[in-house]
Amino acid sequence: MPRVLDGVAIAADIKREVSEEVKKLTERGIRPGLAVVLVGNVAASEIYVRDKAAACAELGIYSEVITPPASVTTIEMLELLTILNGRDDIDGILVQLPLPKHVDTKILLDAVDPSKDVDGFHPINAGRLMAGRPALEPCTPAGVIEILKRSDIPIAGQHAVVVGRSDIVGKPAAMLLLHQNATVTICHSRTRDLGAITRQADILVAAIGVPGFITAKMVKPGATLVDVGMNRISERAEFERLFAGNEKREAIFAKRGSTLVGDIHPSAFEVSGAYTPVPGGVGKLTIAMLMANTVRAAKMRRGL
Ligand code: NDP
Repeated sequence: MPRVLDGVAIAADIKREVSEEVKKLTERGIRPGLAVVLVGNVAASEIYVRDKAAACAELGIYSEVITPPASVTTIEMLELLTILNGRDDIDGILVQLPLPKHVDTKILLDAVDPSKDVDGFHPINAGRLMAGRPALEPCTPAGVIEILKRSDIPIAGQHAVVVGRSDIVGKPAAMLLLHQNATVTICHSRTRDLGAITRQADILVAAIGVPGFITAKMVKPGATLVDVGMNRISERAEFERLFAGNEKREAIFAKRGSTLVGDIHPSAFEVSGAYTPVPGGVGKLTIAMLMANTVRAAKMRRGL
């Protein structure tokens, strides 16, 4: 039977550790603070931001949600970021993506003070990560490492194959695995004979954005599967392709008209040695790592 790597329990452990650190800092008169900038009214973003603010409240971190209208300009956003960069009570700044098309996302992400860049998206932090220097690391890839380490999955010397090369997930995940002494292969949409490569993986990380893309025949039996994908499906045919005969999912689908699935086909989990489920896997770690980054930023800015 494959082992289920429990993101819910691991996220709870991390949050507990973070809340203890917050308590210690607060006793010294330092209350870590996170500013989240949420532009316009994107329903999914509103839910993510609400969850981030709730996690801050739970752990004793100060949070502030700033909500410019969808019509905000790049210049106005730059002015806002300048103010947040200069505020001493704000340790972390997060610009919730996606932003409206007329706003220049890259310019804005580059305008966040790297020492407050709790998403780890600033080129300075990406460069520091690449160079193996202390950096604020992107939350989801950092969560991938935490889930492996805390589940006692060996990384050093293992062949880790990462499918996906985005700047926010695939590339940093590959770099973090390399720093843990894995032998790393990065695959993407132009990779030839992908299955031949994924079948070599001791650890397979899927960050693709295509529901159930990695099938059982692409997996080495006994491999550890880390599913970063978060895809909501609502088509019946798609549901049948992924979850035929799964009564629990059937009940969820019937009730909500949709369900969440990763980038790995559920049948692939059956041949694995261990896997992160969706939901309840990597996704649960992302906010916990954001909280950890906020506390880390608060300490680093003060030379602690
Ligand atoms: P992107 O769309 O930015 O990147 C997807 C990557 O997958 C690209 O590198 C792309 O290759 C590659 N890819 C696409 N199709 C194929 C294919 N047919 N074969 C091989 N590679 C392919 O997505 P993200 O990295 O932002 O996100 C990936 C997934 O992770 C999504 O499902 C997203 O929802 C989820 N996610 C989950 C988070 C969480 O908290 N759990 C946080 C962030 C993301 P190429 O570069 O060649 O186009």
